[in-house]
Amino acid sequence: MSDLRELYQDVIFDHYKKPRNCHVLDCANHQAEGYNPLCGDQLTVYLKVDNGVITDLSFNGSGCAISTASASLMTEALKGKTLKEVEHLFDDFHQMVTTPESAPEGAPRRDLGKLEVLSGVSEFPARVKCATLAWHTLQSALRKQTNPVSTE
Ligand code: ZN
Repeated sequence: MSDLRELYQDVIFDHYKKPRNCHVLDCANHQAEGYNPLCGDQLTVYLKVDNGVITDLSFNGSGCAISTASASLMTEALKGKTLKEVEHLFDDFHQMVTTPESAPEGAPRRDLGKLEVLSGVSEFPARVKCATLAWHTLQSALRKQTNPVSTE
């Protein structure tokens, strides 16, 4: 288990140092900003949604290793997913980071793939908000359209 932990930390560190899809998405038709005052994390999530499918997404901003790695992993995990699939992934991810592995009620989880590297966050309640910031920001982006820039 400790080897696995180490591997997880390596992946998180890698995504923190070299975040994937970390840029403004010019073709985005949804976007939202998220802020976690407890830690000082802030980021913007950009989405391109076509016919109920996230065809492209990205984020940018600044935050701690957990929030940055989580946003980076999320953009990789959600590209090409339908909004229904995204909803399920959000539920599963949220459950994973809020339910310590040792908890008796810890239900068997769906396969979250690479997102599982963040499962250790469940042991640190103060970091749960860092890990879920990108996801909550994504939800808020899905609820509103971005205003197209006026060309006058
Ligand atoms: Zn943070």
